[in-house]
Amino acid sequence: MSRRLEWQSVFDEVLLRGLVVEGILSTEKRAKLLVAAASVPPREGACDAAYWFGICPDVGRAAAHVLEERSVRHMTSRVIHIETTSKGDTTKFVTELQDGLKIETCIMRKGTTRTRSTVCVSCQVGCSMACKFCATGTLGLLGNLTSGEIIEQFVRANALEPIRNVVYMGMGEPLANYAAVISSIHQLCEQKVHHVAPHRITLSTVGFDPRLIEDLINDVPDVSLALSLHAPNQLIRDQIVPTSTKVPLHSLLKAAFQFVDYQRALSAKKGKRQMLFIEYCMLRNVNDSENCAKELAQLLKPWKDRAIINLIPYNPTDVSIDFEPPDQTAVWRFHHILKSDHGFQAFVRQEHGQVRTYSCHRALKQRQVGGKATESKPGTAPRGGARIRMHHART
Ligand code: SF4
Repeated sequence: MSRRLEWQSVFDEVLLRGLVVEGILSTEKRAKLLVAAASVPPREGACDAAYWFGICPDVGRAAAHVLEERSVRHMTSRVIHIETTSKGDTTKFVTELQDGLKIETCIMRKGTTRTRSTVCVSCQVGCSMACKFCATGTLGLLGNLTSGEIIEQFVRANALEPIRNVVYMGMGEPLANYAAVISSIHQLCEQKVHHVAPHRITLSTVGFDPRLIEDLINDVPDVSLALSLHAPNQLIRDQIVPTSTKVPLHSLLKAAFQFVDYQRALSAKKGKRQMLFIEYCMLRNVNDSENCAKELAQLLKPWKDRAIINLIPYNPTDVSIDFEPPDQTAVWRFHHILKSDHGFQAFVRQEHGQVRTYSCHRALKQRQVGGKATESKPGTAPRGGARIRMHHART
């Protein structure tokens, strides 16, 4: 769905590449402009030539005037709500994009420590994947974010506290906005600009097109991959993940683990052990039985040494979705089968981000962004508010 955008973000790679091709900026000046824009506090509103020259004299006055003429802004979006949990482990902000669409971004912390934070970014407004248990899916796709709008989320978060990890687990399916997501990852990893290590970026996909997972090998070979599986077989997956009907489960898993195998081959000498994160949203009487656990173990058996399974108990939302959370006993039984009986690395995840919803959030159909996954202890109830998005985060 196309969007009519008047302003351009200084972090937008399409803009930056164009300016270099036109000879308005050299490659070196482009890099200096990015470093400068990433270093100063985010500024909302119009930016004139004096502003650009002020934060980065190296671009020169002529280029600064071009930036003004082309309506380039430091921030094309504006924060309209920010909220931190009472425990202080999560801060969520709602941002209004220049065309009025709204997205959410979430900063997640280990406890209240603000030195190793993770930001969960959105890459689309709404989502066309229509997963049955996901409120974002009920919105349909309202628009793709530009790479600049994705980076702006990181820049805002990083201005609040140092961000170490970036997870593409907010609103939208990253591979459905492939070019912008890949551009944003490249910029995040660019030396001296945003300082994010590639392996600290996690891209989460429902896997609607295995060929795109194969493309990741060429485009972003060092990022971590999370696959939203949610089912132990094709039949159940087809019921809850509509895009699954076009993708044989085995082809999907093959493509995803090939990506991990490729990473392992590349990093063998460095001793890194890349893993594929399997996200599994547990829905009562749909995919939470003992048989499902055994079937999932069988399904993933060929890749046992390369899979980390995150079990995510479903949390009800106020949108009309006919699913129920699993029974606590069923969750831990499922976990036991995977971990103790079959030797998988498996975790029951609970989310951060239990911030109270408010009116704008309601307009987003009560969608709560991602939420960092933290491990629950057996015998405890996985906490949860209105979790909508099931792609899940790791730090
Ligand atoms: S779970 Fe992910 S892919 Fe599925 S509808 Fe929600 S945001 Fe889209």
